[in-house]
Amino acid sequence: MEQTMTLKNKTILITAAGQGIGAASARACAAAGARVIATDLNGVLLAGLNDVDGIETHVLDVTDGAAITDLAAALPDLDGLFNCAGVVHHGSILDLDDAAWDFSVDLNITSMVRMCRAFVPGLLRRAESEGSASILNMASMASSEKGFVNRTAYGATKAAVIGLTKAIAADFVARNLRCNALCPGTVDTPALRGRIAAAPDPVQAERDFIARQPMGRLAVVDDMTPTVVHLLSDGSQFMTGQAVLVDGGCTI
Ligand code: NAD
Repeated sequence: MEQTMTLKNKTILITAAGQGIGAASARACAAAGARVIATDLNGVLLAGLNDVDGIETHVLDVTDGAAITDLAAALPDLDGLFNCAGVVHHGSILDLDDAAWDFSVDLNITSMVRMCRAFVPGLLRRAESEGSASILNMASMASSEKGFVNRTAYGATKAAVIGLTKAIAADFVARNLRCNALCPGTVDTPALRGRIAAAPDPVQAERDFIARQPMGRLAVVDDMTPTVVHLLSDGSQFMTGQAVLVDGGCTI
């Protein structure tokens, strides 16, 4: 089978594609030749992708199991699924009430369980007919890879993403359906800008985020997108069950 970085003839669904890493990934996958189904909770943000060749948009809240089931029934079988949605809870265990914990679990990990349950049957059909299909789950360097201050709910749920990824990879390794996790360092996105703006001293908060990156800069979204395309493409056909760090050396 030909191994290539192209996504030609592949249909790829991305969650949380309205802005940040998800939006950049939708553009990069379309540029690599995929038909991209870009989904997000926020239809206004998604509208920014409406004019991009190869991208179609659907509003999807990944905490809504019925909406996920309906969308899976309405779409063709997928070749690739990028579960990108996630949320940062800022705080230690002492700041974490049940509601905040439950929300982090629901958005960061249960959403991926729902998406995979709904879309794996179609991914397996494509894996059987085309010889390859791929799931990519968004984890983080803040996970089982490394502990960070004030990231209790985030680190625990992103570690669970890595566990889920390895379990799915193990179940389907012999059926040509791969599953990997992406573990970014600190990426300059609207969500990160929101965390900086919400800090008591935003100037110092930005300095602190940069200081924890040994390269002395934040990642930009297109530091992530080549790896996203690679992991969804047939160029990574011998990779499965991996937590792939793109962290600018943070975990050296
Ligand atoms: P972002 O805020 O820039 O974009 C998040 C998007 O998620 C928004 O478009 C928002 O509308 C959408 N969204 C929120 N709730 C949703 C829901 N219930 N259903 C569907 N969409 C929903 O975020 P980002 O910084 O690009 O982060 C994207 C992912 O990358 C997250 O999983 C995050 O944890 C992970 N990540 C980010 C960084 C970073 O430094 N930015 C680092 C590591 C991992």
